[in-house]
Amino acid sequence: MGYFKDIIDGGLSLIEGMGVTARRLFQPLITVQYPRKKIPLSSAYRGHIELKIFEETGTHKCIVCLNCEKTCPSGVIRVQGEKQKEKGPKTLTGYVIDFSKCSLCGLCVEICPTSTLEYSREYELVGDTGADCVFDLMLRLAKQVEQREEKKKTQGIAA
Ligand code: SF4
Ligand code: SF4
Repeated sequence: MGYFKDIIDGGLSLIEGMGVTARRLFQPLITVQYPRKKIPLSSAYRGHIELKIFEETGTHKCIVCLNCEKTCPSGVIRVQGEKQKEKGPKTLTGYVIDFSKCSLCGLCVEICPTSTLEYSREYELVGDTGADCVFDLMLRLAKQVEQREEKKKTQGIAA
């Protein structure tokens, strides 16, 4: 009896699987010829963290509180700052993350009191060694600020 039941179950499973295949046949293709074509990233996508640029200041708002560094469960954040004046606040001088060990838990983004951390939209990252996954966020920020300035100039010329 069990033998025939197995055959019937197997047959039903096969029909169900073929049904899924048949339905997919008449739906639009979702495969794209990457990298020639790309699909829009989900708004929920998380790349490595980076420093946000604020319109009003043209740069980040990090106050070197070290909350992110202390909170990171993977211990991959290194923040450096120095005082410009003896009694003044610290200014951010270095922000490095080792993305190879980041779990993208988001705690650093959530705990930042100035909301100056965000997820990048990077997904085309490659590296031969772990060192290639160590990112200098200050350097990235400087490049982004430069690109924004260039873009503004170009738009100004075009207008
Ligand atoms: S997302 Fe999580 S693991 Fe990654 S740097 Fe932030 S706190 Fe650390
Ligand atoms: S938590 Fe935010 S403000 Fe504090 S050190 Fe990290 S990035 Fe800077």
